[in-house]
Amino acid sequence: LGGRLQDIMDRIKGKGKVTEQDIKEMMREVRLALLEADVNFKVVRQFIKDVSERANGADVMKSLTPGQQVIKIVQEELTSLMGGENSKINMSQKPPTVIMMVGLQGAGKTTTAGKLALLLRKSYNKKPMLIAGDIYRPAAIDQLETIGKQLDIPVYSMGDKERVETIVENGLKYARENHLDTVIIDTAGRLHIDEDLMNELKNVKEIAKPNEIMLVVDSMTGQDAVNVAESFNNLLDITGVTLTKLDGDTRGGAALSIRSVTEKPIKFIGVSEKMDGLEAFHPERMASRILGMGDILSIIEKAQMNVDLEDQAELEQKLKENTFTLDDFLAQMDQVKTLGPLDELIKMMPGANKIKGLDKVKMNGKEIDHVQAIIRSMTMEEREKPEKLNISRKRRIAAGSGRSLQEVNRLLKQFNEMKKMMKQFTNGKGKKKNPFGGM
Ligand code: GDP
Ligand code: MG
Repeated sequence: LGGRLQDIMDRIKGKGKVTEQDIKEMMREVRLALLEADVNFKVVRQFIKDVSERANGADVMKSLTPGQQVIKIVQEELTSLMGGENSKINMSQKPPTVIMMVGLQGAGKTTTAGKLALLLRKSYNKKPMLIAGDIYRPAAIDQLETIGKQLDIPVYSMGDKERVETIVENGLKYARENHLDTVIIDTAGRLHIDEDLMNELKNVKEIAKPNEIMLVVDSMTGQDAVNVAESFNNLLDITGVTLTKLDGDTRGGAALSIRSVTEKPIKFIGVSEKMDGLEAFHPERMASRILGMGDILSIIEKAQMNVDLEDQAELEQKLKENTFTLDDFLAQMDQVKTLGPLDELIKMMPGANKIKGLDKVKMNGKEIDHVQAIIRSMTMEEREKPEKLNISRKRRIAAGSGRSLQEVNRLLKQFNEMKKMMKQFTNGKGKKKNPFGGM
């Protein structure tokens, strides 16, 4: 979706005068892009109608930068389509907060239960506990227990011989007695929605009185994901959605349609198989990412878990003022290196989808070391003003870092593109909110 819309946006961005014909053409492309991304056709129709109405309004036509205005409208409408604001977990006034995971088999319930427990402990200082409520596949209990061990989070299990209702009841009692303030119940899934499953889930809901019924949906299932969300919502009255596997070759359509079909918020997205691969869902950022502006705030949020707040404030300031230098880039890489798969982080950077060949670049630790070696071989002045690098300086840097001239050039080119995109992204953007907010 990103690439296609991005091209349209680029075409219209510089326009000093936008005609009705331009807007019509743009809307046709937007419609195609959305349909291609598996967005529900009813949702697309409404979206196009809303955007066209606003785009044809007098204030846009009279504006000095109509092209930009139209883009802003598309972004705003995309954002509102996905719910507008980030929605937090529903917390109970009286602990424990109970979160029930539901969804089809393979959607990512068990994995997400673990990720969510980790996130709640790490970012919200909660004391979570997991309940092994999938008794139909013996491997499911093992899987949850392994995750619990790995994260050092207690898992309440009674094996697979008891009824789920009993397990949940006893689990909740255990949590209360041991002052564990957040209970996440992993439940069984099926390949398809069936009555047995739904009855069991309804019983668990009755007993657990969850504050949150979190539907976990595999984003790779496209239009199916929307149907699944609709059915679960009709039967269980879910309170939130986690969209998993957005790291894959996923089309973003599900994120766009689920909210408008169920009217329930997407609260989290799964972005990797690893336990730290769960992020708060921010409609505005998702809209920006879809429009190719990158997702700098998500990067910052992720980095925040591991790095000093002061450093981050400084970085943001630099991004805003566009005084981000190669030296900052170097420091940033150091921080980011501890965060896991770097290619994913880099891809979230503004304009990353425009950097040629980036999708083919696997930025492993070694390659980061190489890039860092190159920057370290520059003088401070060169790091601040890379445009001053002539060929002999570049040769010196290549020799000093033990890398090729080609690699030096590639780094400089990529850095330039990145800066350009960052500038675009931060222009006219407001101040940043506390990424973790209050819950
Ligand atoms: P469940 O049957 O709903 O409990 O699904 P699981 O939690 O067992 O997950 C099924 C598979 O999807 C596992 O291999 C997970 O590692 C994988 N998975 C879950 N969430 C994500 C995600 O966000 N990204 C990726 N790449 N894989 C995921
Ligand atoms: Mg499971």
